[in-house]
Amino acid sequence: MTPVTLDARKAVLAAIGAHERFLLVTHEHPDGDALGSLIGMQALLRGLGKDSLMVISPEDFPLPGEYRFFALDGLVTSPPEDFELRTVVFLDCGNLDRNPLAVLRGAGELVNIDHHHDNTRFGTINYVVEGASCTAEIVWDLMHVAGVEMSTEVAEALYVGLVTDTGRFSYENTTIRAHEMAVELIAAGVDVAEMYRRIYEGVPLAKLRLLARALDGVALYSDDRLAVAVLGIADFEAAGAEASQSEGIIDHLRALAGVKVAVLIRELSGEGQQGLRKVSLRATDNDVDVSMIARTHGGGGHRRAAGFTSGLSTAELIDAIRAQV
Ligand code: AMP
Ligand code: MN
Ligand code: MN
Repeated sequence: MTPVTLDARKAVLAAIGAHERFLLVTHEHPDGDALGSLIGMQALLRGLGKDSLMVISPEDFPLPGEYRFFALDGLVTSPPEDFELRTVVFLDCGNLDRNPLAVLRGAGELVNIDHHHDNTRFGTINYVVEGASCTAEIVWDLMHVAGVEMSTEVAEALYVGLVTDTGRFSYENTTIRAHEMAVELIAAGVDVAEMYRRIYEGVPLAKLRLLARALDGVALYSDDRLAVAVLGIADFEAAGAEASQSEGIIDHLRALAGVKVAVLIRELSGEGQQGLRKVSLRATDNDVDVSMIARTHGGGGHRRAAGFTSGLSTAELIDAIRAQV
């Protein structure tokens, strides 16, 4: 860790020591790392005898099926009345726009714990560890420094963040440290095969049908180096699938021979989302920084995994991305 990062860690620990009441938040449509780091941070704070609540906005429910086994003790769906007195901790959230609870911007102390290199450092304390495989890894490290014991349930939550953000230990963020974390979590009681089954198996037929529709329509551009799949509202309806069941489809596009950039465009159907599309971007090497493309459309992410939401049509999006790549 650099001195700056170490100072940030110190500042986070000092803020934890100085305050009694906390409110933990993450990005919209929480993924495995968002939930894993929330649960880990909650355990850390409660282990230190603090009052801590996690808040996830009602529109993010139901959570994706693969994460429904989490107990989520101390979860609320709107900021509690005393939220202005609470220290707000953002986890795995690169910018404030990614949190639907805009009201939280009014809070006093704002701790920002994340691993996205393009994090906008919106907190009063910004603890951004770009080299961390996942935000859960940062929380795991904090638990050590704070000397808080980890239950098997908490180890499982951190493991979910680790496995999902590293693409099951396959992306370039799969460091020695990531594996060391895995060793420790397994020692704390994580059953690897059982976790794999919970996260990646028990796939509903609707999800498989949605994957089939996406793959059926894959188009290749730029000498087959750019792969694009599109899922419209009609595809979700025909497959009987929910929006969150499209997670993971992009990994199949990324795996295609010769592909350097993979794109998945999903038409949104939620309230107030008419005409909006969520775009996921993945790169297979460092030649293209997809987070740069995402930022020009108001989104962000990592160099090899990024996303944004846009009001452009599918054709306009494909044209724009082709030109940018
Ligand atoms: P996704 O394609 O949704 O799996 O997201 C891939 C990566 O991009 C994750 O690290 C996200 O945090 C990031 N990301 C996705 N959408 C956005 C957005 N609208 N703004 C900032 N970052 C995003
Ligand atoms: Mn995330
Ligand atoms: Mn993450």
